[in-house]
Amino acid sequence: MIACSTSNKKQAANTSELQKDTIPQECIDPVAIEFLGIDVDSLCVKEKELNRRDNLQKLFRTLKLDKYQYAQFIQDTKDYTDFTHITSRQKYFTITKETDSSSLLQYLIFKISDFEYIITNCTDTSYVPFNKVQEDIVVLSKKKKKKTKKIIPILYHPLQVAVYEKKIDTTAIKFAAVIQKSVAKTFKEHHIDPKIIEKLSKAYNGKFNVANLRKGDTLQFVYDQLSINGRFLDYGHVQAICCKTKKKQYYAVDYFIDDDSSYQYTDENGKYLKTAFIKSPLQKGGSIVSRFNLHRFHPVLQVEKAHLGTDFAAPQGTPIVATASGIVIAAQFTQNNGNYVKIRHDKVYETQYLHMSRFARGIRNGVRVQQGQVIGYVGSTGLATGPHVCYRFWKYGAQVDPLKEKLNVVKQIPKNDMSLYLQFFIVAKNILEKIPMV
Ligand SMILES: [Zn+2]
Repeated sequence: MIACSTSNKKQAANTSELQKDTIPQECIDPVAIEFLGIDVDSLCVKEKELNRRDNLQKLFRTLKLDKYQYAQFIQDTKDYTDFTHITSRQKYFTITKETDSSSLLQYLIFKISDFEYIITNCTDTSYVPFNKVQEDIVVLSKKKKKKTKKIIPILYHPLQVAVYEKKIDTTAIKFAAVIQKSVAKTFKEHHIDPKIIEKLSKAYNGKFNVANLRKGDTLQFVYDQLSINGRFLDYGHVQAICCKTKKKQYYAVDYFIDDDSSYQYTDENGKYLKTAFIKSPLQKGGSIVSRFNLHRFHPVLQVEKAHLGTDFAAPQGTPIVATASGIVIAAQFTQNNGNYVKIRHDKVYETQYLHMSRFARGIRNGVRVQQGQVIGYVGSTGLATGPHVCYRFWKYGAQVDPLKEKLNVVKQIPKNDMSLYLQFFIVAKNILEKIPMV
């Protein structure tokens, strides 16, 4: 990308003995920026940080770069980052040519992130005009003034500004194991970052919890690892997973869905694993007898009172299910709600199920429930005229009408695309099957 001129190299060879003495000790190992493609053999590289009270303008002045060079730099980098507002502690490198009497700036390099750098070559000795706009006020008479704009070309040494991006390498990491004691212990034993467990579970979106795998169950997965120059950067996508318990196999494969223009985790039947709310809190659907209504005439109280729920009527004892996976944050009795359960699904949504005759076994505060799991049974406890479940839907702490929310109904790969999907799925499945078990 940017290479030193050959004259520098020659100079380096001729004066290498001298250089040894004159290069100040604080010069850092040139390897630190070798990847930028700059030959720094005879130059001094220093890594620095902007002080708290510094800004770019001050830095340019200190480095003896003029205001035209500053203006050009801001202009050349404006699409990339706003250098007029760089923060203190901004990392940068100076590369200088050191002689007995002078220190000549060759390059100024800003580190934007671990893999992005702005390289400014300051060695250009040609002159180009900088079009400075000068505003003048011409007084025409006592009352009349006129503004004029003049463009004055000023000659300066241009900078050559370039962006360098380190290439990110993606490696697919495969792992398969028969679980011995627990997933966590298996991961530890084989030096797999426990963060991956969370990533795997996220792919399942609450449909299956990887941490729940028990002794004898199997786990197979492929995920991406990102690195730069062989150095670990981050984890990328989980490409495919299969968890096999004694009862069932759970697949999640990352598939690009044209219709949505996005990647979705899907199962062996092409169903999305994305969080979805079941429309009805009743196992068999049930019928809505009263909708969310801010001005309802209350049948028991005989006054207009907002109805912040959706009532589903069903015979006493009909199972009530969690409409999405989450954590039970209330399972209690109050005068108005009767026996009720409240579930927190994520940072946005909570649901509440009122007037239950009783709770399902094990339903209490802090318990994790899966979508479709029975949490209680229809009744008419609290302020109710007959057996029904009053289903309440909370979004950011306020009650809303779930029938008006776009609550991603369980989506499925479109029929037309299914054969293509199944081909993809079989390839993914084969890859998983071939990973040797540890
Ligand atoms: Zn209600």
